[in-house]
Amino acid sequence: MPSFHDSFPDAKPEAHKACRFYDEHYSSIAQWQLEPGKKLILRGSQEGTCRFCGRSKPEVAFQQIAHAIPECIGNKSLSTNYECDECNALFGVGIETDFGNWSKAQRTMSCIRGKKGIPAHKGPNKSWRFEHKDGGFQVTQDHNPIAVVNEDTREIKLKLCADPYTPIAVLKAFTKMALSLMPEAELPNFEAALSWIRNPDHSVGLVNNFPVLYTFVPGVSPFDGINAILLRRLSDDLLVPYQTFVLTYGNEVFQTIVPCPERDIAISGKSIHFLRLPNPYDLGLKPIVPMSHERLDLSGRTVVKGEVVETTLGYTLN
Ligand SMILES: [Zn+2]
Repeated sequence: MPSFHDSFPDAKPEAHKACRFYDEHYSSIAQWQLEPGKKLILRGSQEGTCRFCGRSKPEVAFQQIAHAIPECIGNKSLSTNYECDECNALFGVGIETDFGNWSKAQRTMSCIRGKKGIPAHKGPNKSWRFEHKDGGFQVTQDHNPIAVVNEDTREIKLKLCADPYTPIAVLKAFTKMALSLMPEAELPNFEAALSWIRNPDHSVGLVNNFPVLYTFVPGVSPFDGINAILLRRLSDDLLVPYQTFVLTYGNEVFQTIVPCPERDIAISGKSIHFLRLPNPYDLGLKPIVPMSHERLDLSGRTVVKGEVVETTLGYTLN
């Protein structure tokens, strides 16, 4: 068997450590690399039963396309047949709008095509607008600039104002994706999570502190489309969360813990040793400038308004 070093000679020591951590603690139970033209419908064992509310036809209908991963991040291929129209509408209004607003600035900058193309980002009273146009970006702004160009460093500093969102609703949206992709046999372990994501009252329930491990990889489309992985703990004597979900799209990687009080009682309230799942850039691929990592706190239960998202774009002159 080739050693880790033989397979990934350019990997950093931290990546080596993280790979060992995952070998010893987790195995993958579901993984998708989405291919835009290839439609795939995930099917439940009982046709016409919703996995989120448990109701069946004819009490509930299944007319709408239920995306397993939101369409706004570019998913046009992966859907399910086990999300009823009522749950679909509930998630659409309740948590996917928050996820959409929260992720929009970076989606615009990563040129991710949602339902209506690449989203434009705009300020109140037409004060500014940032959009993708003619193969580049176009910024329209008044006296209070959102974009400042530094010709010496060839950088544009952008400050975009995010649309309102509730952080915990964004965390629910990640959890909903994991629950959509999860093998059916796992669902009895996630009854609390299934009811939590359906509860429109974000002030109650389940999660107090679940950090999201975030990685930003600079460059134009550094990853090949959307990738989603669900990993499950190898055995119950290991003091790590039961399942972790990793979603990669655009320039970003998000790793969340799937809330599972049913199986995670042994680690509840404890500080645990947990590492980020390495991505191809940890294992030797070279980003154009170093990637950055952050722990995001999405535990806030009140609406965040007027959050400023700052970013720097590099440019070249033709
Ligand atoms: Zn339902």
